[in-house]
Amino acid sequence: MKKVIMAAEEEAAKKAANEKKLQSMRNNLQKLENRANEILQHKESLTAAERRELLQILNISYHMTGKIQGIFSIDSWAGCAFCEKMRAAAENLILMICRYCYAAADSWKEAAWRRHKLNAIIFSNVLFTIEELQTLPLYAARMVRFNEDGDTVNQTMAQNYLRITRAFPAIRFGYFFKNAAAVEKGLHAEGIFTREQLPQNVRFIQSSVLIGFPAKPVWFADYVFTVFPDEKTTADAIAAGAWACNGRKCSDCGFHCYLSAERPAEPQNIAELLRCSKAMRAAVLQAYAAEKAKHAA
Ligand code: SF4
Repeated sequence: MKKVIMAAEEEAAKKAANEKKLQSMRNNLQKLENRANEILQHKESLTAAERRELLQILNISYHMTGKIQGIFSIDSWAGCAFCEKMRAAAENLILMICRYCYAAADSWKEAAWRRHKLNAIIFSNVLFTIEELQTLPLYAARMVRFNEDGDTVNQTMAQNYLRITRAFPAIRFGYFFKNAAAVEKGLHAEGIFTREQLPQNVRFIQSSVLIGFPAKPVWFADYVFTVFPDEKTTADAIAAGAWACNGRKCSDCGFHCYLSAERPAEPQNIAELLRCSKAMRAAVLQAYAAEKAKHAA
């Protein structure tokens, strides 16, 4: 009995310590968000010191484990207006990939989305110069992914991302996006109108919105990344020529989205398997079959 009481007390103490840590993280990140918003209130007349401060508030992550182990990421925020709109549209569409967004799920670490929110706020409001962006702590990076979480919020954010690729020409970038309209506006604003003008150190990866149905590629897409409903449909896509992403770590596939030597002349497909419960997979497969029949009709 005494042992049981001690274990319960230890458990309660652990929970209280965790809650304290969480609260302190919340307070710290909220302070940074408040400070960023305070500076941005007069975003048309920022001083050089304020612009530097905003750059210091930004979050850049290095991934020591997981799928993108060995890669840095500069993330947006799954709570941004674009992602919110996509998830609202997905409510009644079982095949829409935004319905399964891990970054918006409760289990996603609160600290991560709070940090990424800072990036979305700052990069979507202030256009930095290449010289300013050269101060970002990316000097040790070999590869960087844009948008492991969230999407390009607007043209300004796309321009900042593109300028980062120019600020660090030796780094290889994988620019993942669904918000093609914002990326395109950013490209045009940076004077890029043709595939030949695309920066050589970036590969543009367009994410398909519907599970099992590769998106129609936009002109600047190098890859079209599609999640398939089960192992068979994924294997069929790979047999038809898609690159096998398929749940692998990026290091196991040779960092295809970052290091491919040449920009493909035509956008190439990449196939990934949907990760979900058995019951969910059955429902997705049913919806996939119905959608396929509609396409065939
Ligand atoms: S195709 Fe390769 S590099 Fe691209 S996301 Fe998949 S595992 Fe990573």
